[in-house]
Amino acid sequence: MKIGVLALQGDVREHVHALEACGARASAVRRQEELDEVDGLVIPGGESTTMWKLAVAFELLEPLRLRIKEGMPAYGSCAGMIMLADRVEGGTEGQQTLGGIDMVVRRNAFGRQVDSFETDLDFAGRGAVRAVFIRAPWVESVGTDVKVLCRTGSRIVAVRQGPLLATSFHPELTGDARVHSYFVEMVREL
Ligand code: GLN
Repeated sequence: MKIGVLALQGDVREHVHALEACGARASAVRRQEELDEVDGLVIPGGESTTMWKLAVAFELLEPLRLRIKEGMPAYGSCAGMIMLADRVEGGTEGQQTLGGIDMVVRRNAFGRQVDSFETDLDFAGRGAVRAVFIRAPWVESVGTDVKVLCRTGSRIVAVRQGPLLATSFHPELTGDARVHSYFVEMVREL
C-alpha cells in the first residue's frame, strides 16, 4: 500500500513524515504516472487558489477528479479541505476545486494570517488532538451523507464522506499522528 502527497504546493514533507510515522509508504505526487501508483492521496495545506492553478498547469485537475470519482481515499488538510469541497464561499474569481465532499466551505473563515491559533480538539472519539489553524476554512454546511468528526465551538472543522476525509487544521505540524493513522486505516480498509 502506498499513499501519495499531492506536491504541487504546500507542506508536503510534513505529511510524508506523518504518514511514515504511521507505518505507511508515502511519496510525493506531481505527475499523472505518480498518481496512478498510489492507493490514497493527502492534499496538503497551502493556498487553494495556487494549488488549483498548478493542478491545471500540471494537467492533474481532471486525473485527480477522476480518481476521486472512482473512490480513491483522499485526505485534505486546510487548503486541501477546500480542494475536496463541492462548493466554496469566499474563493477567488472562477476558483475551482476537485470536489467530492458534499459541503460548503468558507475560505479564510477564521481570519487572516495573524489570526492563526492552536487548540485541542476531540477527533472522531480518539481523544484530544492538538490542532493548528492557519488562515483556515470552516465548513458552513454539509449534505446528509457527510459525517461531522469534530467542531471548535459551533464550527465544523473535520468531516468524512465515504473514502474522503477533510480537516480545517494541520495535524502534520504537531507531531501527533492520530489523524494520519485514521486516514491510513481508511486506505487499508478499502
Ligand atoms: N487560506 C488558504 C486557502 O485559501 C488555506 C490556508 C492553509 O492551508 N493553511 O487556500
